[in-house]
Formats: sequence, structure tokens, C-alpha cells
Amino acid sequence: MHLMNDVLIILFAANGFDKGAQGLAGAGRRLADELGGSLRAVVLGEGAEAVAGEAARVADAVLIAEQAELREYQPETYLAALAKLCGESRPRAVLLANDTYSQELAPRIAHRLGGSAAGDCVELRVEGDAVRVGRQVYGGKAHAVLELKRSPAVVWLRARSFTPAAPRAAAGEVTRATLNIQADTRTRLVERRREAGGESRLEEARVIVSGGRGIGGPEPFETELRPLAELLGAQLAASRAACDAGWVPPTWQVGQTGKKVTPELYLAIAITGASQHMAGISEAKTIAAVNTDPDAPIFKHCRFGIVEDYRKVVPLLREKLKQVMSDE
Ligand SMILES: Cc1cc2nc3c(=O)[nH]c(=O)nc-3n(C[C@H](O)[C@H](O)[C@H](O)COP(=O)(O)OP(=O)(O)OC[C@H]3O[C@@H](n4cnc5c(N)ncnc54)[C@H](O)[C@@H]3O)c2cc1C
Repeated sequence: MHLMNDVLIILFAANGFDKGAQGLAGAGRRLADELGGSLRAVVLGEGAEAVAGEAARVADAVLIAEQAELREYQPETYLAALAKLCGESRPRAVLLANDTYSQELAPRIAHRLGGSAAGDCVELRVEGDAVRVGRQVYGGKAHAVLELKRSPAVVWLRARSFTPAAPRAAAGEVTRATLNIQADTRTRLVERRREAGGESRLEEARVIVSGGRGIGGPEPFETELRPLAELLGAQLAASRAACDAGWVPPTWQVGQTGKKVTPELYLAIAITGASQHMAGISEAKTIAAVNTDPDAPIFKHCRFGIVEDYRKVVPLLREKLKQVMSDE
């Protein structure tokens, strides 16, 4: 059977049409144009309409799937729904963002459809007849290019690394699907807890103040770093060492096994700059560091660095910021 050259993007209503969704839609639009196919979007979950409306500005067609079984994320039920949708429409590529739902589902969708999967991609293009993706390896020290030989290519992207697409003159058509699927009971949502630290997500932050093991304990995160973050309008984050020590919640962790962030400014305080930490901030525009050790690897990666005890630097920074703000 002749394969379609359409591209399908998968969006979750719960995430809204955030920077990740916009990057995903932009990446999908460009790939569909390169392939000469159309771009379709599926929006899953309760409250899909608003996200679908935004997606329709970029996609040729948008499908809403928010029937009772799909109102809340449940991996097996979502997988069944997506396998059904993708199986029917036979897209050439299925693209997802880098939220935890997408990372969980992408390889499973590929397996169900007999396609190929790749994750954490920062580049996506068509070469000849093949879909190729690029991703960072060895903690950002090298770049690998992979060719996805089976169709569909199911890829989750570092979506915020991709530029959004300009809205099209005519909005795509939005339709609703009711799928014949059963709610899967293998796993059950037992409890939902909101991340301490408010509504905003680290992946969306423009400025991040991040602390490492050198901070020395949980208290200075509150007494030193939080007031600095508040002055800068920044979000707080941490290295794995600080999270593992139980000083701050695990959701603050940035790095290879933590969150991948893309701020304008990443202020690394008492963080050594191990490759696994750097893997999470390779897309940061400007990195600044404070560390007592002049040989700390972080100084090889940062634009601005201060070799000094953070307990001296942070209060001075706060003072200076207050002064600058009151002068404005
Ligand atoms: C498979 C794998 C995955 C990993 N994933 C991650 C990950 O996702 N994220 C992550 O962060 N790590 C990750 N790690 C761990 C990583 O290798 C490092 O161990 C970790 O990042 C170190 O954290 P740190 O820099 O806070 O601590 P340390 O290495 O202990 O560094 C503390 C730094 O603070 C400085 N310092 C001490 N006191 C002060 C002071 N008063 N003022 C200023 N500076 C001071 C020191 O000079 C030092 O550079 C991973 C490791 C493995 C093996």
C-alpha cells in the first residue's frame, strides 16, 4: 500500500498550547511541507477545544479526542486511542513533544504500528526519501544523526528548541472523534499532587537560579536563592546532588535524567558542571556561574563566572539588583 506523506502531531490538552506545543507544531508544519503532505494534529484530554483552536492556526486538520475514557491521561488507554488513530490515517511521521506523557508513549506507538522511534531530537529533516533526526549524545559533546527506516517515524522532540510556525491564512478544520476503545484498568491514578512552587513550569522559565551541592543544605535555598530568584523573576532549580540529598523536590532537577531547560539566563550556583548536568542546559542562551573552585568544569561552559563563595556573592547580587530596580 502506498504510504501517505502526512505528519501527525500529538498534543495533550492538560499542557495547553505552551511553548513546547508551539515548537512541536512548527516542526510538524515544516516536515509536512518538506514531505509534500498535510499536517494533522490530535488533541487528547479534557478541555481540548482551546488547544485545538490554536493548533488549527498551523495544522491543516485537527482532531479532538476527549471522550470519557480519554478525559484524563492513562497510558494504556491513550496508547490504544493513538494506535487506532495513527493506524487509520497512516501518517509518515508522528511527532510528540518532550513532556513525560510523550516520552512514555512514543516508543510504544512506534512498536504498535511497526514503525521506528527516536527520542530527544533537536533536528528533524527529510533526506532523499528518509526522515532523519539529530540529537545530542555524550551529554551534549557530540551530535548524532539517525535515519528512521521504518514508517511511521515516531519522534519525540525537544519541542522548545524548534521555532513555532507562522499562522496560516485559513485555519484547519477541527473535528471530534469518538473512538471505540475501552478504559484500561491495568494502572489507576491514585493521587494527583501539584508541584510545590506554583503553576509555572521549569521548562518554560526565561530565567533560572539553580543550586548545587555546594549550597550546603536546604535552608540556603530558601534564605539565599529564593529571594534572588524573586528579584530576577526566576524559577528555582537544582543539580541532582542537591535533589538526591532531599534539600529540594526531585522535580527541580535539571540534567540528563532531569528536566531539559531553555532559559535566556541560567545562573548555576555552587554547581560543578558535570556533563550530566550540562546535558539539561545545552539550550540555555546564557550561562553564568558562581563557584569557589576555579577549575570547576562549569567555567568552561559559562559566559560569565565568579570564583567566590556564593554566600558572599548572592547577597551582593541581591543588593545590586534592588538598587538597579529602584533606580529605574
Ligand atoms: C547516569 C547519570 C545521570 C545523571 N543525571 C544528572 C542530572 O540529570 N542532573 C545532575 O545535576 N546531575 C546528574 N548526574 C550527577 C552528576 O554526575 C553530578 O554528580 C552532579 O551533577 C553533581 O552535582 P553538584 O554539581 O551539585 O555537586 P558537586 O559535584 O558536589 O559540586 C559542588 C560544587 O559546589 C562548589 N562549591 C562548594 N561550596 C561552595 C560555595 N560555598 N560557594 C560556591 N561554590 C561552592 C564546589 O566547588 C563544586 O564545584 C548524573 C549522574 C549519572 C551517573
